[in-house]
Amino acid sequence: MTMKPLDLFGVDALLGDEERDVQATVRRLVDDRLRPQLPEWFESGTLPREVARELGGLGLFGMHLQGYGCAGTNAVSYGLACLELEAGDSGLRSFVSVQGSLSMFSIHRYGSEEQKQEWLPRLAAGEALGCFGLTEPDFGSNPAGMRTRARRDGSDWILDGTKMWITNGSLADVATVWAQTGDGVRGFLVPTDTPGFTANTVHGKLSMRASVTSELVLDGVRLPASAQLPGAHSLGAPLSCLNEARFGIVFGALGAARDSLETAIAYAGTREVFDRPLAGYQLTQEKLADMTLELGKGMLLAIQLGRIKDRGEITPDQISVGKLNNVREAIAIARECRTILGANGITLEYSPLRHANNLESVLTYEGTSEMHLLSIGRALTGHAAFR
Ligand SMILES: Cc1cc2nc3c(=O)[nH]c(=O)nc-3n(C[C@H](O)[C@H](O)[C@H](O)COP(=O)(O)OP(=O)(O)OC[C@H]3O[C@@H](n4cnc5c(N)ncnc54)[C@H](O)[C@@H]3O)c2cc1C
Repeated sequence: MTMKPLDLFGVDALLGDEERDVQATVRRLVDDRLRPQLPEWFESGTLPREVARELGGLGLFGMHLQGYGCAGTNAVSYGLACLELEAGDSGLRSFVSVQGSLSMFSIHRYGSEEQKQEWLPRLAAGEALGCFGLTEPDFGSNPAGMRTRARRDGSDWILDGTKMWITNGSLADVATVWAQTGDGVRGFLVPTDTPGFTANTVHGKLSMRASVTSELVLDGVRLPASAQLPGAHSLGAPLSCLNEARFGIVFGALGAARDSLETAIAYAGTREVFDRPLAGYQLTQEKLADMTLELGKGMLLAIQLGRIKDRGEITPDQISVGKLNNVREAIAIARECRTILGANGITLEYSPLRHANNLESVLTYEGTSEMHLLSIGRALTGHAAFR
């Protein structure tokens, strides 16, 4: 009898009934309805908008938020859903992260009651899509330098600037856009049919291909005063949204790793080299055992951080620990699994290299690995080495 990698850590016993149910439901959705189409979406460089209805129908958008049509689950359940989505493709998890943790969270935490009523139920159902524009062509790791400006004209606001690398930008109905004002950074809800707003899809990506990434151009976009997010008073507001999305990545990246490892184990069991199954060679077993250790340790870390988050005690530095470790280990696992698949591993027929390529983006977005290293370094020493 063989065991699944995470069974060796007794992970299931750490989860409650509801958490296991959420995980099983999302795994079924991914395996039965989405996985068969993922290679094609990856190859054609798209993720069809219709997927939103399916994900919304299961209550996956903003599932950890309360009210306004959101499911209101705990953080661990949200994390497990991210894990199962990313076991399909990081593009799927990004879709849900951006909708729930960036677009919806920014409205839920910082929006007016009117903004919440207008957008959250439709975003939760997947009837409307949101995006989150913080990064600019010249300012990614250091968003404080952003050049997008919002200026007053009577009671209206006028926005000018360019946002870059925005997930779902060309699909979105509403964009949360962060801009400098004379009084610091503020957030605005921009309906994407507002004159002066354009979204241009980025082509030629080698990573995160089953996901739409866009440039947002704001050219004299006029918004009423009611478009401003009234609760957001500084750069801390968008950074708090990023923490929500990063938490999902702590679990999500492990989904890509688990799927790669399960694929490699299955392949090694049937592939014969030198007249014996590849799985029977010590070099293969060393790879599989080492990867299992890192996957399991990452999972225990993710669950521990989820429990801390559910107590309302998690800090950004703790999320940095999880994001840095789990993405770094996941990409190493996906690459190692690819070696076990030999030449077959470079095709879309098998998932590990698709996962590894996707994880290149995950390594970079929501704070690069270097930024998380520096955050941990600051927490340990008290010295900020960012500049
Ligand atoms: C597929 C994808 C989707 C994305 N989706 C979104 C989205 O929806 N919304 C959004 O706002 N953004 C999004 N981003 C942007 C992402 O958040 C940024 O790419 C990220 O913050 C890094 O910024 P940058 O690319 O400008 O790199 P840079 O900041 O230019 O960094 C380049 C390199 O320099 C290193 N570096 C930077 N500063 C330091 C330092 N002080 N010390 C040492 N090294 C340093 C970095 O770690 C990195 O290795 C997305 C990106 C990708 C790839």
